Amino acid sequence: MSKVLKLKCVKCGREYDPAQVLYTCPECGIEGILDVVLDYDQIKKELTRDYLKKNTDYSLWRYLPAIPLEDTKGIQPLQAGWTPLYNIKTLSKETGLESFFLKDDSRNPTASLKDRASAVGVAKAYELGRFVMCTASTGNAASSLSGFAASAGIKTYIFVPETAPEAKVTQLLIYGSNVFLVKGTYDEAVELCFKAADEFGWYNRSCAINPYLLEGKKTVAYEICEQLRFQAPDIAVVAVGDGCSIGGVWKGFKECFTLGLIDKFPKIVGVQAEKSNPVTRAFEKNTYEFEYRVPETIADSISVGIPRNGIKALNAVHESGGYMVDVSDEEILTAMKILAQKTGVFGEPAGVTSFAGIIKMNELGLLKGDEKVVSIVSGSGLKDIKSAMKAAGKANLVEPNLTEVRKIINN
Ligand SMILES: [Zn+2]
Repeated sequence: MSKVLKLKCVKCGREYDPAQVLYTCPECGIEGILDVVLDYDQIKKELTRDYLKKNTDYSLWRYLPAIPLEDTKGIQPLQAGWTPLYNIKTLSKETGLESFFLKDDSRNPTASLKDRASAVGVAKAYELGRFVMCTASTGNAASSLSGFAASAGIKTYIFVPETAPEAKVTQLLIYGSNVFLVKGTYDEAVELCFKAADEFGWYNRSCAINPYLLEGKKTVAYEICEQLRFQAPDIAVVAVGDGCSIGGVWKGFKECFTLGLIDKFPKIVGVQAEKSNPVTRAFEKNTYEFEYRVPETIADSISVGIPRNGIKALNAVHESGGYMVDVSDEEILTAMKILAQKTGVFGEPAGVTSFAGIIKMNELGLLKGDEKVVSIVSGSGLKDIKSAMKAAGKANLVEPNLTEVRKIINN
């Protein structure tokens, strides 16, 4: 029996049989993102604390009973998930917290949290017999689709803005994807990708329309709960671009609660770059209408003019009793440096935005010292070296003898 009860539109609430609809609500169009509603009574019987304690699959597939696949033939050996959760005690001055938890999702195979979504997306494509996929992305979703599709022998067409960092584009090419660098913004790359998918009949991995991708992302919350020995954190802080990741994180925590794995929810706090903040602005105006502004931020992964999954992002914040916070690019670069130098975790700009948010929350007096706070590092700093160089400073250039070394050491 299928684990999926129905697909429910987040905009109008209409419900569909999964066999009826592939992407968004036919009534609401592109804004009618669907939510996958699972049969939790059935899942609850299998996915228990005991089941997990005995499970030796250290990847996101340890949560397979809660992942809506009808069969497992598309599951690839490439390991996504089960990334470390560090208890950081060296940053109390910056965060005001005795300790906090850092979920390092840069440790996925293509070095970002998006691998969770791509692992599930590729398995779903396999199940549907769709062996050509496409996506539009600011970079990470694309490189993760490329990697997982490569492992599954699926052909991919990728649309990224021409400004995407070189390392991410190189990842696409080395994995063998067909890459289109779009002379325009991320939003324009999305439009073009959707048109091409329609025209050529490709299976679209974009999290903004494909409801199954979030089912991979939600596993990061399952892991956090399990790694905290089935205690929910008080606050989970997530960087927000399109809103898919924060939506996935919230769905994961809600499901853990529904399944009896944890006994309370965390508040979800979303963090945006201050010049790419449509979700924050909508939150502050208490509206679900998003106002377009040209995004401008160093954090390319969350550089978004129109949040494609903005409704799920706002729902996450509202339903959990959380809030939105903005940070500047300068604060993001400072956070990148502090995090690397005090924890050894090197995140890309968007990857450290949630940590920058925690510093900001502390400055605004929003944190209590003994709260259990989790920050998710969503991507590796090696994906965007140019930005990291702005934060890192320069190395010492010396002649190959000790004279100059001594001079520098003694300074
Ligand atoms: Zn609808």
